[in-house]
Amino acid sequence: MKQIALYGKGGIGKSTTSANLSAALAESGLDILQIGCDPKHDSTRMLMHGSRIPTVLDLIREQGDKNLTVDDVVHQGFSGVRCVEAGGPEPGIGCAGRGIIATFQLLERLSALDGDVIVYDVLGDVVCGGFAMPMREGYAQEVYLVTSGELMSIYAANNIAKAITRLSKRVRSNCRLGGVICNAKNIEGERELVAEFAKRINSSLIAYIPRDRVVQLAEVHKQTVLEYAPDSEQAAVYRRLADELARNTRTSIPTPLDDDELDAFALESIQV
Ligand code: ATP
Ligand code: MG
Repeated sequence: MKQIALYGKGGIGKSTTSANLSAALAESGLDILQIGCDPKHDSTRMLMHGSRIPTVLDLIREQGDKNLTVDDVVHQGFSGVRCVEAGGPEPGIGCAGRGIIATFQLLERLSALDGDVIVYDVLGDVVCGGFAMPMREGYAQEVYLVTSGELMSIYAANNIAKAITRLSKRVRSNCRLGGVICNAKNIEGERELVAEFAKRINSSLIAYIPRDRVVQLAEVHKQTVLEYAPDSEQAAVYRRLADELARNTRTSIPTPLDDDELDAFALESIQV
């Protein structure tokens, strides 16, 4: 079983990429479990045709974790992708990472962390306790950083790389960087910029996903691109990403940039 996690700045396209990746992997015959590790619990929405599945944290709150079964928490979505949403506390109350911790505990107890590939879609701005859990506790063995060429998302990716480096030293963690995914914002020289960043942190650009209006069209139709426009070029891009990730065995311990190096990189990239 392969366990991969997509981390990146808020709004960068983690959930869109995760859902299309899961759909493409499932299309190729693999058994996929996607776990939304974001209190917003919208990771699997497109796979579920817009319906919001009950979150693990809500179910535990309402029914207590002793009575829950796999069918309560795992829901079949498009192409047979099995979907889970961790959920989170009410905004402003409690630790946002609690849903993730509770989800892993429950899925472990139910022996439900299975399949050919588990895709974790994780909020990446705060790499605090709960959000680092998929990396820290040995679940996500391969982390993919989703970034555009915008410096703020590169800063966020670099922060996550720092967390991977730290966690890779822990015996239980086993966490490595699988590569960098550029989800384009149509910035000049974007592919080269992100590829250079990936190289500097001892990794590589594993996929370039163009910005395409079909993503929004699919979204308003509450579908993944793979379902809404299966013959589109964008669907082919997600299939190539799935292929690349399924085959990838090259992982690394990243060498994140320090503040001065990041500043220098930012300056160089703006002058290109
Ligand atoms: P959050 O951190 O809030 O969970 P996210 O990283 O999961 O955000 P998404 O919700 O996947 O980001 O995407 C944000 C928006 O960007 C969505 O409206 C989505 O349709 C759009 N988007 C993502 N990728 C692309 C793309 N390649 N082309 C066009 N639009 C895109
Ligand atoms: Mg998201």
